[in-house]
Order: sequence, then structure tokens, then C-alpha cells
Amino acid sequence: MTAPTPKGILLALRPLAGRMTARVPIALLALFAIWSGNARAQGVFSYNPPGDLVAGSGTGREDETNYVPGMRFPIESAPAYANSQVWGNGGMYGPGGSQCDEVNYSYPWWDNYCETRSWTMPLCPTGEGHQGQDIRPATCQDDMYWAVAAEDGTVTSIGTYSLYLEGQSGTLHRYLHMEPTSIPVSVSSQVTRGQRLGRVSNAFGGTPTTIHLHYDINQYIDGHGNVYVPPYMALVASYQELPDVDPEPCGPIPAHGGVIDEDNSCFLLHGPMNYWRHVTDAGYGGNLYWTYAWDQGLSNWAEWQIHLERGGEYLVEVFLEADYALSQQARYLVRHNGFTDEIRLDQSADSGWAELGSFVFAAGEDQFVSLNDNTGESSSLQRRLASDAVRLTPLSFSDEPVADQPEEMGPGDPVPDAGGDLDADDHPPELVEEVDVVEEDPLADDDQPPSDLDPTPDSGRFAVSTGNEGCGCAAAGGSQPALCIVLGWFALVWVVRRFRG
Ligand SMILES: [Zn+2]
Repeated sequence: MTAPTPKGILLALRPLAGRMTARVPIALLALFAIWSGNARAQGVFSYNPPGDLVAGSGTGREDETNYVPGMRFPIESAPAYANSQVWGNGGMYGPGGSQCDEVNYSYPWWDNYCETRSWTMPLCPTGEGHQGQDIRPATCQDDMYWAVAAEDGTVTSIGTYSLYLEGQSGTLHRYLHMEPTSIPVSVSSQVTRGQRLGRVSNAFGGTPTTIHLHYDINQYIDGHGNVYVPPYMALVASYQELPDVDPEPCGPIPAHGGVIDEDNSCFLLHGPMNYWRHVTDAGYGGNLYWTYAWDQGLSNWAEWQIHLERGGEYLVEVFLEADYALSQQARYLVRHNGFTDEIRLDQSADSGWAELGSFVFAAGEDQFVSLNDNTGESSSLQRRLASDAVRLTPLSFSDEPVADQPEEMGPGDPVPDAGGDLDADDHPPELVEEVDVVEEDPLADDDQPPSDLDPTPDSGRFAVSTGNEGCGCAAAGGSQPALCIVLGWFALVWVVRRFRG
């Protein structure tokens, strides 16, 4: 695996990200995070119903059947994101952007079994479809994540970008786009459920596709013979069996405090997913993420949502792992009780738990710790910014142990706070200008339906833009957040006027 490209090299390709963050005050970042719930890179697993396809991508089959009960999810570890490649960001008929945009690495899942293709598909409403389900692994990294056997069986065929597994249930499982050189099994190999079959890549026997696993299942169905059957609900069920899939919402931290690690649903990754590197043999709990710090606008950030059972003063600490915590001016924001504090920390000076400070939090939600990559350190320094666990330890309580947060808590909250708060009220003169900037950008308009489709290509599978150049362009990834920003600013304007008027 090659080292990731420093973000600075790609600066010229990221006009929106640079312009936006250069002019946006920290208060906006706080709002950005609060309103970015629909752009989360991780979080609570959810899925659209079977048969619901991305608008314009075809007519789905509403089928709740799990055709392979008890099967193992075909990618080794969570998170994974089942969604359309062709109609997703970076796809030929998608809304633009890059395959690495975080919207592609977010829930909910989308069925794409009957997505428009020319394959004969008797179970699809139009009689044609895509055959299987496309699944992205945890991040936009090629040749890193393992596809595994869904059940015990025999490998019956290996092609330039395909592997067939005949399972003991009689189901034929097909895996497409694994890196051919990564495949550790051969034809006739007997494999067991969960055994590694190859790493997910963009291999397509020539022009690459997006980085994803195309997974499909073929079974004998009375009246049809051997046909591709819908894999979606088998994938949903097997995914929920994975240990890292958190079925719980971001729950409150109890009064005695707690730790938010990366596998917690309160932890979110933001920004283009190819810049997040996942390490699975280091850090608190054996996992961490890192990205490079840089001196340009905000591109990637991690967020630990803080939802507390009781309000009060808490000590906030972050876990640092020596090899990955190299930024000397890591930029943390702590959103607490309506205020946002910026904390600079030399990650390289510590290992283990390091203090960010003590902060007064309210009971309830809408609070967070974030770690942002715009530290001011040149990307040529290649300083890693480690994103791992956050620990909250109560020092004193300031309220009754009730779950409901006070009505007045929010950006306009006049509660005084010690030192350095960068709050919404500090920046009213820039409001109009910022709204104009965001509205002018055509990339912000990502709700439009895909353009008219060409007739179904006879190749069956579409070649998809790999988005190599797009991977460095946060503009498209910013399109969804840009919408949030517009909404956020309108809300902020309203709040400011209300509290001042
Ligand atoms: Zn596919």
C-alpha cells in the first residue's frame, strides 16, 4: 500500500473547500458539525427499504426475503456502505463529485439489485437489472479491506476481476472487483465461512471501476431456474451481526463519565474518505484513524458527539498513539453548553491520555469535540493527526439529572463562559456575505435528479469514473455540507435576530 498523497498537492483542485473555509468563522464550523447529521461517515447503521433505488436509477424489487439466512457479511469488517456506484458521487450518472466523497461512505444503505443495466433479470420489475449489490468498504482505500466467504463452500472460478464461490447451501456467490494479486485461494479451494478471498479494489479487467465489492447470489427459483436473487436483506441481516455495527443511537454518557471510541455511534468522520487512514493494530481499543495535518482550509475532521446524562464540569481527554499523533498544533474544538472553544494540542508531546481541559457541559445533546486537519502545519511536513478515543470524567455537576436540555441552550445562549469562546454572536457582519458565497456555487445544488439516461448500455456494467482527480476535490463532498451551511446560516441569522431583536 502506498502512502496517501499529501493533501497540499491537490490544492488546486479544491476551489470550494479552500474558499469556503478561508472565509468561514469557527462558529460556522460548529454549526456545520451540528447540522451535518445527513453527511456522517459513520454512525448508526440504517438502510432504505429493499426496492428503493436512488432516484432515476431504475425500478427496484420490494422483497424482504433473506435468501441466505445465516450467511456471513462478505466484507470482513464494518463499516461498509451498500449504495449505487453509477448513480453515486463520482459515478457516470451521479450528481458529480468524487467516489471518495463522504456521502458515499454514509448510511443509509441503498438497494441497487435492479438498478438499470441490460442483464436479463426475471425477478426485476422491468425484466432487466444489475444482478447484485455494490458495497463500499470502510474508507476509499484501494486494496485494503478483505472480502470474505459468505458461507462454507468451494471456489469454482477465478477471473480477472471475479471469483465464484459455490456455498454449501447451493447458493452461488459472486465477488467482483477484488484485486487479482490479493486473492489467496485458487479454483477448487475449500473455504470456510469468513475466510479471506481477496481485497476490495477497483479492478475491472482494464479500465478501473470505483473501489467497491460487487456481490451477488444466484439460486434456483421455481419457474425461473437459476437466477440472480435479491441479496439486499441477506446483506442487511448479516451486516447487523458484525461486532462493530452499533445498533444503538449515540446514547448519553452516564453521570460517572465514559469513553467515546471510533466504534461508538457518537463518533463520526467527515471529509473525503480517501484521506482517512484506518489503523487496526494500534490505539485505544486497537483502532484509530489518522489523516495529515495541513495549512489550507478545513478538509477532514473527526467528531465525537457529546450527549450527557447530567450537566456539569467535565475533564476532557484524548487518547494519543505515538506513531500516529505527530501534529504539534492539533486543532480541537470543544462545543459545550452553547459555546465553542478552540484548543491547540501538541500531539507529539504525549502518548496515552492527554488533557484538552475541563469544560462546563449541559445535559443533553448538540455538544461535541472535533479534531480538524487545518492546523496550519504544511502538508510537506507530513504530520499525522491521530483521531482516537475521547474520555469525559465528571468533576462537578451543575444541574439536576434530567434528560431534557434547557430551551435556551444554543448558539445564542448568553451564558457567560471563561475565555476564548468563539461564538455565533461574534461574527454577525459576515453573515450575508457568507450566504451569498455558498449560494453562488453551482456545486451546492446536489438535489437535482440525474440527467436523462442514455439507453441501457449493452455492456451490462458501466464504466465508472474513477475520480482520481476528483478524489482531491472536496468541492463535491462539500456539496451536501454546503446545503447544510446554507440552512445553518439561515437558522443562525434567525437566531441572532431573535435574540437581539
Ligand atoms: Zn455492481
